[in-house]
Amino acid sequence: MSNLSVAKFGGTSVANFSAMQASANIVIADPNTRVVVLSASAGVTNFLVELANGCDPVHRATVIENVRQIQYAILDELKDANIIRQEIDRYLDNIESLAEAAALATSPALTDELISHGEMMSSLIFVEVLRELNCQATWLDVRTVVATDEHFGKASPNDEKTQHNADNVLKPLINQGELVVTQGFIGRAPSGKTTTLGRGGSDYSAALLAEVLNAKDVLIWTDVAGIYTTDPRIASAAKRIDTMSFAEAAEMATFGAKVLHPATLLPAVRSNIPVYVGSSKAPEQGGTWVTRDPQPRPTFRAIALRRDQTLLTLSSLNMLHAQGFLANVFNILAKHKISVDTITTSEVSVALTLDKTGSASSGAELLSNELLTELSALCNVKVDTGLSLVALIGNDLHIAAGVAKRIFGTLEHYNVRMISYGASTNNICTLVRSSDADNVVRALHAELFE
Ligand code: ASP
Ligand code: MG
Repeated sequence: MSNLSVAKFGGTSVANFSAMQASANIVIADPNTRVVVLSASAGVTNFLVELANGCDPVHRATVIENVRQIQYAILDELKDANIIRQEIDRYLDNIESLAEAAALATSPALTDELISHGEMMSSLIFVEVLRELNCQATWLDVRTVVATDEHFGKASPNDEKTQHNADNVLKPLINQGELVVTQGFIGRAPSGKTTTLGRGGSDYSAALLAEVLNAKDVLIWTDVAGIYTTDPRIASAAKRIDTMSFAEAAEMATFGAKVLHPATLLPAVRSNIPVYVGSSKAPEQGGTWVTRDPQPRPTFRAIALRRDQTLLTLSSLNMLHAQGFLANVFNILAKHKISVDTITTSEVSVALTLDKTGSASSGAELLSNELLTELSALCNVKVDTGLSLVALIGNDLHIAAGVAKRIFGTLEHYNVRMISYGASTNNICTLVRSSDADNVVRALHAELFE
């Protein structure tokens, strides 16, 4: 292991000049941070997604103007922005022509090319912000390192190629003592085209780079000072968690805590790299360390909430004493690249909830008509929406005495649509009406954490 850290700054940490300066000061203060991975300035990716989905000329002009203003507002505060402004203008011109093309005919490849411009611009500007603080950094196009497959919108990294590229491109820079500033979220397919790792994918990029560099840790700088027992906006008594395990954090990320992208932990777990989450606006407040085996391991760690859940209930009398029904269902879901999180079955039906987190960069709907048609050929399909998943995360929940009683007692007055208990030692999930979700979270938090 090296003594190197990879630091990632999210959209709010590079949203404007003062946020960028705060982030730059964090980089400067930590000599171990040799690689900086950036998101696009907050709001930019959303605007670019809008353009990629195709807009009429008037709306297009407004959206591009919004992007320009976000970036110009930062440039206006630089002491000398002449050269960088020309570069940003080139990117904005590019955005304009790509948006025009997207209005005629959009495609996943074009979408990725277009939305990658957000990270390109924020990283170029960040180098200038560092320079004005007397810190020289080298800008690197991360596509020369992160190799992926061709799955535009949610590409999977090719670990071997990425390792090879890191050894040849990134490590030499670091060994020369350079501080490298690069982009999260994007990669390059074998064809040479730009890909993205899915919305929020910059965390994942940072962890991947930490892995191929054998870094000692990944520092995720965001707008909250760590991971909390639940969203403090829902339950004000929520407390910061100082240390938690990869397993717990993975459950939290998967079940809706927005702090870490679910895939971030894959490389971290694989290579046992500690992940730190802290606030770039208030680094002195401390944060959360996510590690392999922190002590103690409390029974109840946190409550995560995921809104907008879709419950798919599939029933068929043919399922009675039959074999292969579930296999067929899962084959169809796999073909449509749908990831299922919770599932319950009975003799003639199966109910499952679908994963929307880390969805494709374009925000395309998961439940396509093709998918529903294929499933309907096999069984009755019922789609329920307006639901939220409340996940209780902890340790050895399956063997802890009285857990079910406390939870069900607390939920007594709510209509619980589905419960998933026992498959994981780390979580218990309940599916409730979205209109009840905040109250359910508050009630459980009060019962188990306060
Ligand atoms: N800019 C991308 C997004 O907004 C990636 C990221 O922020 O992690 O999804
Ligand atoms: Mg983000």
